[in-house]
Amino acid sequence: MQVLKKKPEVLAPAGTLEKLKTAIYYGADAVYIGGNAYGLRSRAGNFSYEEMQEGVAFAKRHEANVYVAANMVAHEGDMKGAGDFFRTIRDIGVRAVIVSDPALIETCMIEAPGLPIHLSTQSSATNYETLNFWKQEGLERVVLAREVGMDEIKEIRNHTDVEIEAFIHGAMCISYSGRCTLSNHMSARDANRGGCSQSCRWKYDLFELEHQGVCQAYTDEETDEPFSMSAVDMSMIHHIPDFIENGVDSLKIEGRMKSIHYVSTVANVYRKAVDSYCEDPAHFTFQQAWEDELWKVAQRELSTGFYYGTPNEQQQLFGRRRKIPVYKFVGQVLEYNDASKIATVQQRNSFSVGDKVEFYGPGFTHVYQTINQMWNDEGEPIERAAHPMMKVRVQMDAPVKPFDMMRKAK
Ligand code: SF4
Repeated sequence: MQVLKKKPEVLAPAGTLEKLKTAIYYGADAVYIGGNAYGLRSRAGNFSYEEMQEGVAFAKRHEANVYVAANMVAHEGDMKGAGDFFRTIRDIGVRAVIVSDPALIETCMIEAPGLPIHLSTQSSATNYETLNFWKQEGLERVVLAREVGMDEIKEIRNHTDVEIEAFIHGAMCISYSGRCTLSNHMSARDANRGGCSQSCRWKYDLFELEHQGVCQAYTDEETDEPFSMSAVDMSMIHHIPDFIENGVDSLKIEGRMKSIHYVSTVANVYRKAVDSYCEDPAHFTFQQAWEDELWKVAQRELSTGFYYGTPNEQQQLFGRRRKIPVYKFVGQVLEYNDASKIATVQQRNSFSVGDKVEFYGPGFTHVYQTINQMWNDEGEPIERAAHPMMKVRVQMDAPVKPFDMMRKAK
C-alpha cells in the first residue's frame, strides 16, 4: 500500500492584492508577493505595506500563508533600509521572506529575528550539501534551481530534512535560473534587480560584420522565423506524484505578472490534482481535463523543463509561441440570485448575446452557458457588454457563485 508522506503546499504567484485573494480563493495554500523593494519583479504591481497587511489578514482568514520575495542581487547602496523592511514585514505577519543575497540573509537574521527565510531559486541550489549548508545557517526552506532533475530531488531529499520548494508550472528562463544579463545589455535594465524586459523572447537576426548579411543558419527553416532564445513554458501536471513521493514540501507556480484568469485557472488545476493524489495515492489517475484546463491559459507550448533530462533544442522549441490563448477572460461573478437565476457579472472583456461562455470556480467546477438574455445595471436589455468593469446581469440555466470567473472561446 502506498503511504502518503506529506501533503505539499500549492504555492501561487500574486502580483497584486486582487491576484492574492484570487489565488487563495482558488485553492493556493500560500502565495508569494513582492514588496516595494528588494524583489525581482519591478513591474509586477508590488505591494505597499498597507496592501501587505490586508493580504496577510485575508490569507490568515483562509488559513493560507504569504511569503515576500526579496531575492534581488544587492549592489552597493541596495542594503540601505533592508533591516527596516524585514522588521516591518515580519510585524505585518508575513510567514517567510524569500532571499538569495547572503548580505540580505544576514541582515534579515540580525534585524528581524523570528522571520523565517527561504533561499530563492536565484541562488541555484542544486545539491544536498548546499541545502544542508543553508539549513545550518538557519534557513527554513530552499527553492531548488529549475535545472534540478527529478532523480536529483530524490537524492537531495534522502540527505536533508530542510524544506524543499520546486517549480511545477510557468515560464522558464533560458539562462541559469534567471541569472541573466540579457536585459542589462538590450534594454539597460538589470534582470537581477527586478528589471527583466524578457529580451530572450525578442526575435533576432544575426549579422556577420564583413558581409552585413542575415545569417540564414539562425532562422527557422519552416516558418522563416528569426532566431529567438525564448524557451517554452513548464507544466508538471502529469508528474505531481513524483514531487510528492520524493518529499517536495512546496509546489511553486511561476507568474507574478500573469492575470487573475491565469492565476485562478492554474491554482485550481494543481489544487485538484494534489488533493486527488493525496486522498488516495494508490488509485490516483490523471485526468485529461486538468491539462485541457491549463491549455486555456497557456501562451506557449508546455514541457517538463529539466526534470527528466536536459531538454534539447526541439523540446525547448525556442521562439515558437502557441498561436494565442484559445480562451478570453470576459467577467467575474459578483452575485447570483437563486430565485431569478440571474448572475451579476463584472465585465473584463466584451461579450454578447449569443456567445457560448464558460463559468469556472474553486473546486474545479464548470458551468457552460449560451447567453440568451442580459441587462445593464439599470435593468435595460443589452446585446453587448462593451464597457470595461460594467455590471451586467446574465440569465442563467444553472447556478454560479460569487468569485466564479467567466471566459469564452475565441
Ligand atoms: S531576459 Fe529571458 S532569460 Fe533573461 S532573465 Fe529575462 S526571462 Fe530570463
